[in-house]
Amino acid sequence: MNNLLETPIEYLKGVGPARGELLRKELGIHKYGDLINLYPNRYIDRTRYYKIHELLNSNSEVQVVGKVINLKSVGEKRTRLVATFTDGTGEMELVWFQGQKWIRENLKINVPYVVFGKASAFNGVFNMAHPEMELLTEHEQSLRSAMQPIYPSTEKLIQRGITNKVVNKIMQQLFIETQALFSEPLPAHLVNELQLIPKNAALFNIHFPKSQDLLARAQFRLKFEELFFIQLQLITKNIIRKHKIKGHAFDKVGTYFNDFYNNHLPFDLTGAQKRVLKEIRHDMGQPAQMNRLLQGDVGSGKTIVAMMSMLLALDNGFQACLMAPTEILANQHFLGLSELATPLGINIKILTGSTKTSERKIIHEQLESGELHIIIGTHALLEDKVQFKNLGLAIIDEQHRFGVEQRSKLWHKNEIPPHVLVMTATPIPRTLAMSLYGDLDISVIDELPPGRKPIQTVHRYDSNRLKVWAFLREEIAKGRQIYIVYPLIQESEKMDYKDLMDGYESISRDFPLPQYSVSIVHGKMKPSEKDSEMERFAKGKTNIMVATTVIEVGVNVPNASVMIIESAERFGLSQLHQLRGRVGRGAEQSYCILMTGQKLSNDSKIRMETMCRTNDGFEISEVDLKLRGPGDIMGTQQSGVLNLQIADLVKDRDILQLARQYAIKILKDDAALAKPEHTALRNAFLEISKKKNIWNYIS
Ligand code: ADP
Ligand code: MG
Repeated sequence: MNNLLETPIEYLKGVGPARGELLRKELGIHKYGDLINLYPNRYIDRTRYYKIHELLNSNSEVQVVGKVINLKSVGEKRTRLVATFTDGTGEMELVWFQGQKWIRENLKINVPYVVFGKASAFNGVFNMAHPEMELLTEHEQSLRSAMQPIYPSTEKLIQRGITNKVVNKIMQQLFIETQALFSEPLPAHLVNELQLIPKNAALFNIHFPKSQDLLARAQFRLKFEELFFIQLQLITKNIIRKHKIKGHAFDKVGTYFNDFYNNHLPFDLTGAQKRVLKEIRHDMGQPAQMNRLLQGDVGSGKTIVAMMSMLLALDNGFQACLMAPTEILANQHFLGLSELATPLGINIKILTGSTKTSERKIIHEQLESGELHIIIGTHALLEDKVQFKNLGLAIIDEQHRFGVEQRSKLWHKNEIPPHVLVMTATPIPRTLAMSLYGDLDISVIDELPPGRKPIQTVHRYDSNRLKVWAFLREEIAKGRQIYIVYPLIQESEKMDYKDLMDGYESISRDFPLPQYSVSIVHGKMKPSEKDSEMERFAKGKTNIMVATTVIEVGVNVPNASVMIIESAERFGLSQLHQLRGRVGRGAEQSYCILMTGQKLSNDSKIRMETMCRTNDGFEISEVDLKLRGPGDIMGTQQSGVLNLQIADLVKDRDILQLARQYAIKILKDDAALAKPEHTALRNAFLEISKKKNIWNYIS
């Protein structure tokens, strides 16, 4: 790295200690190198010069060349300074409310200026308040180009006189001093193949674009470079893991797997399930730790894949565990999986917060002796007391609820870490997943089991409740069951519980005993109460289940065919989709009804429309991404990790794809970047990795 770029920012001509302090505090600019990477937020097209007689009252920003012919103060108490400005085609007024003294002293009369700002008409005369002004002679010489960059700024910076124009000036100074130093980090073959503009030209044009076209190419080049280095890091990490992190090679497909596959499989696997299983089998067959993300929409059949992966571990003499985020879900998994496992002679147990001490003790002992083959559980599995004889596979369901730390806790239970399979029903667009989990391998179940009828989703206002209730009676008469879900947000918990209980009471009135029976499940109930209510519903003893979002994840009652979501406008898209996924699991036509108030924000409208339009989780997550941005989707834990300067994971997905493709290509050919043509690349890579290690958060 060039030392000059490491120079503290206050040494730059035109900055000094006071401005340097401000730049550090307000924009985090410490060194020359930081300033170069302060990229403009947007650009104003200044290719066009307007004549005053052409101006329209469109309130847009324009630039005009002309002279000030007169300057005067107007008004009594709060005076303003008004200049008459003419260009031969007409006159307009330039107006200042602040800084009048300075203008009076410095503004030159009868000298050509370029003025820039919003022109608006008042009483037939155009005026421009606080225009940007530049002498025409300076304007013609300045480095600044027709596309004028607008830099990120803060109120304080502007108050203290560091305007956009000032930033532009010091940027020019920076370029004068350092331009020769921007060397090309990307190898020539890559630059040529992708026809990228050189690094120094890109930096120049991002700050002083010579044309729209060069600006576009500069942006492309810098975005590509940014994403490319991230991909280099992630892929390198992946390669290192495969080489260095040992894992148990499951080379046998044995009795458990074969017996299950040939004699006990309850249905034919879908093509996607088969493909994913093959990927998992391949990974676990290697003497390196598997670290795989299994994405599949709700209802796509991840559980059976998990089950069969565990059988492979057992076949090779190892134990397996499955960790779920809630007790309800852990229970559900346990019930489903033990039904499949017990006929095979497998010892399977469940461990949660409410497991009795005596049972707990047995479980601990059997895990250590190896007697217990499979353990299902919640966070309780992470406790230090839980020790395995030989854990070979750890499966984590609904990944987004667990932190990374918790994931790695499981790894450290044995000397050689278990293979890890993380399952998520929150589809993340593949390209985004690549960036956030670039070091995990990704499998996708992109096919639903056959015979599913797409869920019909409608949006209804609260005022139509009577009709909705009539529909519910029809469905119940056909023998179907119904979920009614209420929002529960921590901040408004009290009110939300009240809504839930009010709702429950009125539903119980509208669907009275003995003809109907209504269940309720919420977080304040004891686990045992929750379970027994869930079970009554699952067994078809009650018609309606009123619940908070505790049923969001995983619960499986195939006979439930209607999902009513109350105050649907309060839910995010992915949550709505998760909730909807609780129905549509049987052979019957299923419905999802989104109930909202009359007044909806624009975003809420988009969410409702999206839900009604599609059942495709990936499509929904794309919309979600657009509405919320990637940081939000991943939750606070992962947001901001990548801290991108210029690229946007949502908008620049094609570039991301390309960057990944080339990163893979280059590393395949030269994993250590040791070839002479990769010297500059390796140096830049090491430099960037030192500064911004995005590895840490993953493992
Ligand atoms: P999820 O991916 O949401 O965890 P599950 O594994 O719970 O989905 O599967 C949803 C439902 O689909 C379950 O009732 C399961 O038995 C059923 N199922 C899974 N795979 C198939 C298949 N290949 N054919 C038919 N039904 C399947
Ligand atoms: Mg599931």
